[in-house]
Amino acid sequence: MNITPPDPGLLSLNTATVREKWNLREMIEGCARHGIRGISPWRDQLAALGVKEAAKMIRNNGLTVTGLCRGGMFPAADRKGRQAALDDNLRAVDEAAALGARCLVLVVGGLPAGSKDLKGAREMVRDGIGETLEHARAAGVPLAIEPLHPMYCAERACVNTLSQALDLCDELDGGKGGALGAVVDVYHVWWDPQLESQIARAGDRRLLAFHICDWLVPTTDLLNDRGMMGDGVIDLPQIRSWMEAAGYRGFHEVEIFSARNWWKREPGEVLGAIRRRHQQCC
Ligand code: ZN
Repeated sequence: MNITPPDPGLLSLNTATVREKWNLREMIEGCARHGIRGISPWRDQLAALGVKEAAKMIRNNGLTVTGLCRGGMFPAADRKGRQAALDDNLRAVDEAAALGARCLVLVVGGLPAGSKDLKGAREMVRDGIGETLEHARAAGVPLAIEPLHPMYCAERACVNTLSQALDLCDELDGGKGGALGAVVDVYHVWWDPQLESQIARAGDRRLLAFHICDWLVPTTDLLNDRGMMGDGVIDLPQIRSWMEAAGYRGFHEVEIFSARNWWKREPGEVLGAIRRRHQQCC
């Protein structure tokens, strides 16, 4: 495979990558300073700065919001809990709209506490997305289902493959109107033997975001031990080539949860490494 280095203008920072040392204001200014054109904030950081102020700063610095993290977490033990989740998702859609975000990322949720009913949890996810979709459509904010690695099935997301996410898209948005699609996060799906064919199946209408990092060997923490691109075993150029073959022309969003390494470093150093590794390893 012969693949040219990616366009540095497509780089985006998922702000979880530098969340230990910077607030959202510093992240926005840092991206601008380092020539990173995209940003994907988390809602707790957004709430701390204020949605209006964040939107203004992002606009003034010429950044594209490649996604808002996150909505989802639909399953709950009772009706009241499910309604609270739904209300929160409607608010998340409004925040994404205020930022002009390209999508609202959905981490759909796992089993309610004490439950073993995985099928029921997946039905609650389907219903929750379905009930959020109309509001999202009206607000012009596509919902992006992010399949998570199966090790997160119980606590974070019971949608675990791209195929499963696309089945939900087909069920809820058969017309492929652009209101519903998926996130391809290499950390979660790199191992899937169907990844190439499912990316092709998704096509550009359903591919709403591309999250990159690397899978370290050995991985020492289930949540916070992601690697910088090039430090692990994921064939990033290969997966990027599948995304591009499917018509994806969007951003490459770097999302690294790294308690033992990158979160400890100066964020300016991290952004410099991201720029280099994006060119060398993606
Ligand atoms: Zn992700």
